[in-house]
Amino acid sequence: MKPPRFEYAAPRALDEALALLGEHGERAKVLAGGQSLIPLLNFRLAHPEMLVDINRIADLAYVRAADGGVAIGALTRQHVVERSEALRAQVPILTEACRFIGHAPIRHRGTIGGSLAHADPASELPAVMVALEATLTLSRARSTRTVPADGFFVGPLATALEPRELLTEIRVPALPRRTGGAFVEMARRAGDFALVGVAALVTLDGGGRCERARIALCGVGPTPIRARAAEDALIGQAPSVSALDEAAARAAAATSPPSDVHGSAEFRRKLARHFTREAIAEAARRAGGS
Ligand SMILES: Cc1cc2nc3c(=O)[nH]c(=O)nc-3n(C[C@H](O)[C@H](O)[C@H](O)COP(=O)(O)OP(=O)(O)OC[C@H]3O[C@@H](n4cnc5c(N)ncnc54)[C@H](O)[C@@H]3O)c2cc1C
Repeated sequence: MKPPRFEYAAPRALDEALALLGEHGERAKVLAGGQSLIPLLNFRLAHPEMLVDINRIADLAYVRAADGGVAIGALTRQHVVERSEALRAQVPILTEACRFIGHAPIRHRGTIGGSLAHADPASELPAVMVALEATLTLSRARSTRTVPADGFFVGPLATALEPRELLTEIRVPALPRRTGGAFVEMARRAGDFALVGVAALVTLDGGGRCERARIALCGVGPTPIRARAAEDALIGQAPSVSALDEAAARAAAATSPPSDVHGSAEFRRKLARHFTREAIAEAARRAGGS
């Protein structure tokens, strides 16, 4: 099928894009990498009257140091995130997760902002940003606000973004010393969306006990799920088999997976348990534990 008719604008400056979004409000849609939006248009599942193409706004594509952490412009392509040496050094879990997104040509067009704004419950990056406690900058003409990643995803394909707002930046705070991270997932074929994905960050104290844990899952609920009870189970514990089993069981209990042709809810819950255990074990190992 062909997309419905729409007006098209390709501003070169952020101000211009925000003015267009302000003027057209709910009738406008932002076009970034197009890897999700173009199919939606072609299937006529989206009917914008105005498409604001942000691809020419070079100021929205960057990776830079900020407040001890890192700031990533929303238009940064997923393959740039994947290849960035700075990100690999500071937040290697992000590099690791990007490799699971579709295939290389998709990551060459797809943007980090597009992936977060699209908010597919099975997407890797939303879960990783929740685990990293990233903050998202949402801009509109004459104002900006920041939203924690945990509060940004409100339902399947639904976010806190309001009409007239553009996601402009993602800020990832510095990780504490002795933190290891791991992203693991299970998909039916390489490049497919995850049946379940788990992002785990574990910080160990000098004695090898867990002093901080952040765990988020994708594919097993309407939004990324932060598994706080699982995190609590790890605090003060050495990463033993029993501690990992308890945390994994708690993470699985926090999920509300769908049943579909790819797998039943029960199957996905079992996967969540297994892969949470695996992600925590690997994160703890990378943090310097055994
Ligand atoms: C075959 C295939 C396999 C894929 N596999 C995966 C996968 O395994 N994992 C995965 O996570 N994704 C996967 N994707 C999706 C891909 O990651 C997309 O790149 C991503 O979902 C959207 O990013 P985009 O830049 O292409 O955004 P677009 O398609 O341009 O936009 C997506 C949505 O976000 C909005 N939007 C985009 N940027 C902004 C912004 N800055 N501010 C506000 N709103 C914005 C748009 O208006 C639109 O509603 C796959 C896609 C394909 C085609």
